[in-house]
Amino acid sequence: MEKTLVLIKPDAFANHYSGDIIKRYESEGFRIVAMKLMRMTEKIAAKHYAEHIGRPYYEGLVEFMTSAPLIAMVLEGENVIARVREINGKTNPAEAAENTIRKLYAENGSRNAVHASDSPESAEREIHIFFNETEIYGE
Ligand code: ADP
Ligand code: MG
Repeated sequence: MEKTLVLIKPDAFANHYSGDIIKRYESEGFRIVAMKLMRMTEKIAAKHYAEHIGRPYYEGLVEFMTSAPLIAMVLEGENVIARVREINGKTNPAEAAENTIRKLYAENGSRNAVHASDSPESAEREIHIFFNETEIYGE
C-alpha cells in the first residue's frame, strides 16, 4: 500500500490545529501507520530539505522548522502521495484552493502548516529520515 510522509509543522502544532488536520486526513480515508511528536534538528533539516540547500529561503526555513515541536507521521492509502498534496494545497496559502489545509491553517508561504512527500522516491527517502521500519505499522 502506498505511503507518504506528512509533517504538521511547528506553526500548525503551536496553533492547536493538529487535531483538525489529522481528522481531515482520516476522514479522507487515509490510515496513520506511524506518528511522533519531535523537534527537528539542523541535521535532520539538512537531510529532509537537501534539495533546498542554498536557496534564499533555506536558512529561514530551517530556523522555523527547528524552532519548536512538530508532528511527523506516515499515512497509508490508495494514491496517498498525490491526494495528500491536493488536500494540503499550494505551498503559498495565498495561492491555495479553498478548503485545502494550507488555505485553512497556513500563516504564509514559509510557515505553511504541513509538509507532504511529492513522489514515491521522496516518500521512501523522507519516511526513513523520521522512522525506523519497526515504528511503521503499515500493510
Ligand atoms: P512544498 O512544501 O509545497 O513541497 P517546496 O518543496 O517548494 O514546497 O518548499 C519546501 C518548503 O520550503 C515550503 O513548504 C516552505 O515552507 C518553504 N519555502 C518554499 N519556497 C519558499 C519561499 N519562496 N519563501 C519562503 N519559504 C519557502
Ligand atoms: Mg516539497
